[in-house]
Amino acid sequence: MSGSLLVDNIGELVTNGPGEDPLGIRRDAAVLVEDGRVAWVGAAAYAPAADRRIDAGGAAVLPGFVDSHAHLVFAGDRAAEFAARMAGQPYTGGGIRTTVGATRAATDDELRATVRRLRGEALRQGTTTMEIKSGYGLTVADEARSLRIAAETSTETTFLGAHVVPSEYADRPDDYVGLVCGPMLAAAAPYAKWIDVFCERGAFDVDHARAILACGQAAGLGVRLHANQLGPGAGVQLGVELGAASVDHCTHLSDADVDALAGAHTTTVATLLPGAEFSTRSPYPDARRLLDAGVTVALATDCNPGSSYTSSMPFCVALAVREMRMTPAEAVWAATAGGARALRRDDIGVLTPGARADLVVLDAPSYLHLAYRPGVPLIRQVIRNGAPQ
Ligand SMILES: [Zn+2]
Repeated sequence: MSGSLLVDNIGELVTNGPGEDPLGIRRDAAVLVEDGRVAWVGAAAYAPAADRRIDAGGAAVLPGFVDSHAHLVFAGDRAAEFAARMAGQPYTGGGIRTTVGATRAATDDELRATVRRLRGEALRQGTTTMEIKSGYGLTVADEARSLRIAAETSTETTFLGAHVVPSEYADRPDDYVGLVCGPMLAAAAPYAKWIDVFCERGAFDVDHARAILACGQAAGLGVRLHANQLGPGAGVQLGVELGAASVDHCTHLSDADVDALAGAHTTTVATLLPGAEFSTRSPYPDARRLLDAGVTVALATDCNPGSSYTSSMPFCVALAVREMRMTPAEAVWAATAGGARALRRDDIGVLTPGARADLVVLDAPSYLHLAYRPGVPLIRQVIRNGAPQ
């Protein structure tokens, strides 16, 4: 977008930049945007002139949310499964195969429409960056087209051919791992930035996960991992060992898992997905244990039709505060700068000069209201890449 834009009269600006508090808060501030980037941040009284001006009216402004974990390429829904779970049935992950069947039967345009609908829904709730995974095709052609469609909407695309073993390979999982590492990876890699594995009992064990992630790394993809969601396991430590950008879920952790994530040389983020625990009525991850150990924590939606059908980062912030005992500041940082770390990005999740101009203007005087007023549409205006949406 050409021309400069001044977002002025900001009562509380969350920058996530250097400052006395972790959110780098500035009062009575303004942000100048040029060429899609933050050009200047400072006191409103000293704001430079600009071609256009948005008056925040004393409201809070924060970086756009970075949702680093979402499964948007699918067909159908699983509302009946949700209702059954709320009536007492446990979550096992097996319902993924229901969505696989519907996804394989869908046309490209049907899948594309779902991705765009959910991406639009998230954008209206302040999400300016959204990772999108494949994982409901589980054939060479269906995984490749899932990623091709995802790449139309996001640069943060993840190959999750190892989501579950599809039913046609149920009695020969080694053959399926061979397919994922061979022709499926070759077809998916041109559209993918990351590779991911659902490392869990009932999905892929740690040896299969290690083999698949190693193939992905050799193909130039970055590593992320679903680990320790439904029970304890070796997934988290495998992720740290492989230098994964993020290990996601982290609901069942041993002391050794926490130590590995907190290690001095560890760059792996622990991404917590409280929408999944909410929607499966499961115990939440122990965020305080991670934060107190010095682990970098991100929050994401896990948006998917089975275990967490929400696209709302404000909802996840509210859950993190109420149910996981994160402070509002920790939760907002995790949903912005934390998500950026989980995607190894330093140009988003912050509002400092040079960063991408992805901003959210709240209908509230403070970021605190994101947790204080749960379920309320507090996103007044979203600016993405410098462009008001
Ligand atoms: Zn997931």
